[in-house]
Amino acid sequence: MDTQLLIGGKFVTGDGESLPVLNPATGKPIVSVAEASPGQVDAAVSAAAKAFDTWAWTTPAERSMLLLKLAQRIEDEADAIARVESLNCGKPLARALGDELPAVADVFRFFAGAARCLSGSATKEYLAGHTSMIRRDPIGVVAQIAPWNYPLMMAAWKIAPALAAGNTIILKPSELTPLSTLKVAKILADIFPPGVVNVVHGRGATVGQPLISHAKVAMVSLTGSVATGQAVLQAAVPTLKRTHLELGGKAPVIVFDDADLDAVVNGLRTFGFYNAGQDCTAACRVYAGAKVYDKLVADLASAVGTLKVGAPEDDATELGPVISARQRERVAGFVDRAAATKHMEVVTGGTTVAGAGFFYEPTVVAGALQDDEIVRREVFGPVVSVTRFTDADDAVAWANDSDYGLASSVWTRDVSRAMKVASRLQYGATWINTHFMLTNEMPHGGMKQSGYGKDMSMYGLEDYTAVRHVMVNLG
Ligand code: NAD
Repeated sequence: MDTQLLIGGKFVTGDGESLPVLNPATGKPIVSVAEASPGQVDAAVSAAAKAFDTWAWTTPAERSMLLLKLAQRIEDEADAIARVESLNCGKPLARALGDELPAVADVFRFFAGAARCLSGSATKEYLAGHTSMIRRDPIGVVAQIAPWNYPLMMAAWKIAPALAAGNTIILKPSELTPLSTLKVAKILADIFPPGVVNVVHGRGATVGQPLISHAKVAMVSLTGSVATGQAVLQAAVPTLKRTHLELGGKAPVIVFDDADLDAVVNGLRTFGFYNAGQDCTAACRVYAGAKVYDKLVADLASAVGTLKVGAPEDDATELGPVISARQRERVAGFVDRAAATKHMEVVTGGTTVAGAGFFYEPTVVAGALQDDEIVRREVFGPVVSVTRFTDADDAVAWANDSDYGLASSVWTRDVSRAMKVASRLQYGATWINTHFMLTNEMPHGGMKQSGYGKDMSMYGLEDYTAVRHVMVNLG
């Protein structure tokens, strides 16, 4: 198991506190990894600042070649990397290997191409005798903070556009799930010049905070909770850092009476419970038309009841554990409080799975109302709520009545209705008759308290650049 930090091209053991890293499927420690000390955080930032002077001047083609190499190495070593990811997160191994690793390699391939496609929007004589042009230049040293739900994929979403644009980075994985990132750091060190990518380990308070507050860090990119997003904004104030925030979500799923109900049920079974529901786009907040409500609840309860919960390495497993004992308690708290009300009913699941590990049964809560906390707050676990509506305008208003604005979906056979509703939803993404599907060509990012800034797509690349105007006096 790789446990060393990557600072200035060298692998070093953290000088800070040693933190056990747990296997969520057993609750037992896999290994301990020492946190970076404040001095090591500073050394990583200095290494990135030094490397920026040359990395920023590499050609897009050079950066592109290195990103392609990285994609290839990840593909070549996918099996070993997926095993570490599955072990550390409790994800079904088949999904880590079959879904996530190919997606990670594709992020690097996409940005390898995108690096060569940045262009200024106009060059012209807007003032007589002067030619203006627009440049997009890298920003500098970028601190990147990743969460625990998709450690490597979120790292890839950050590393790829930042490097493609010519920035240098310090990446901090979540203290709960550093292992795949530390493994891939070995590959990063083989490919990129020293200091271009640095990886530090540690908790938010001890390592994240000094990193995001560092005066030489020009931009902070975070995928995490709203509270951490607020901490990033506070830390950005003294030196006016740029910020790129991908925060939580509470995705509404509007199901009209004319929807293909089998497709809805299959979709919710998959997209509500993938990664044990620990997904900021999870299809977790269903609004069902009055005519289909009863059948939807019944069919969904039976379908979700067939989800196979089990050991991550078992090929048949569809749902692994949640990340930690704390997360499971949090999830159970939401469900228990819902079950204690008179109007809500847990129609399947609703209890922790006995035995070792942090397993929780896939759960459907019916009868939820708009003001219930299960509808309003992010559970981030294998729990889907269903709310009945009779008026389409109510469904759209309730869907929008949320602090979050990341992802949403509309299910109907009526194309015109789908398009009208999609245009009214205040979400970074709206899917029609599907949910959760992402592609590197398209932007992913939120509105409202889900944050701002885009991952993936040319917009993601642009977010890691500064728009500059250069004007030539033609004399
Ligand atoms: P978290 O905010 O607790 O932690 C995220 C990261 O921030 C971790 O690396 C943590 O160590 C670090 N951190 C915490 N406090 C910090 C501080 N003061 N300074 C610097 N770094 C700090 O979130 P989490 O529990 O790891 O992840 C779950 C959250 O992430 C959920 O809310 C989820 O919706 C969100 N998420 C969003 C997206 C998206 O694309 N919008 C994707 C995945 C996860």
